[in-house]
Amino acid sequence: PEDAALEALQHADVAGLLPLPGAESDKYRRGVVGVAAGSVRYPGAAVLAVSGALRGGAGAVRYVGPAGAAVIARFPETLVSDQGPKAAGRVQAWVVGPGAGDDAATVAEVLTADVPVLVDADGLRLAERDTVRARTAPTLMTPHAGEAAALLGVAREEVEGARLAAARELAERYGATVLLKGSTTLVASPGGPEPVRVNATGTSWLATAGSGDVLSGLAGSLLAAGLSARDAGSSAAYLHGLAGRIAAVGAPVGAHDIAEAIPRAWRDVR
Ligand code: AMP
Ligand code: MG
Repeated sequence: PEDAALEALQHADVAGLLPLPGAESDKYRRGVVGVAAGSVRYPGAAVLAVSGALRGGAGAVRYVGPAGAAVIARFPETLVSDQGPKAAGRVQAWVVGPGAGDDAATVAEVLTADVPVLVDADGLRLAERDTVRARTAPTLMTPHAGEAAALLGVAREEVEGARLAAARELAERYGATVLLKGSTTLVASPGGPEPVRVNATGTSWLATAGSGDVLSGLAGSLLAAGLSARDAGSSAAYLHGLAGRIAAVGAPVGAHDIAEAIPRAWRDVR
């Protein structure tokens, strides 16, 4: 039965998962998240991914890519580099793909890193399946239904009609944790009998451009702080949904408003 195959993350579960700095913490111990995103054409995706990453609990955010000027103008605390991911300093988890355009080389380079990698948006199309399968560190893929359909080679309606099966199938094919976005979010792990996590904290106001980029940064930050792909993805979806509700009390918001509400969502959970 489908119910036994699903598990909802509770408020208390998320509260227990969120990384808190201790007296001994420094920014490196809290985790450094690398964001390889954005392009000359889509600099905003980089800014939004960084906006989510800065509010996800990692101690520092490193940005690599062509949108460094836009990122630093909005978030001066970002460590910006115009070198590739390999030349960047220490990073405990990567986010790759939002607004990446056709930069397959960066996606491939990030996927060789021996740390958790979150792949979203253009990165999903550019990531070679064999490369993802060959990874030893965890991979978290975050497609919406259209992106999942493209990866599975089926119509979008087919994914929407069987979301649980689609998330599981993608997780098996890629050997990756798959976070399937939509009005609810499903998180499926590969290679095991674990139930699929379902999150329903969201609101349809989250259906706005750049919303997913904020989620990517947020989940990447939780990965860098040491959460598993399954926990990072599901906690990020939980917080992102709450942040959307806090930001949009019956009125439309932009993706940057969702990011700005993450600290309030975090406080509500704790
Ligand atoms: P993206 O399409 O990549 O920008 O991601 C959209 C984000 O908004 C994901 O986190 C979705 O789960 C969320 N979202 C989109 N539509 C809805 C909806 N109708 N209800 C709740 N969340 C939604
Ligand atoms: Mg997206």
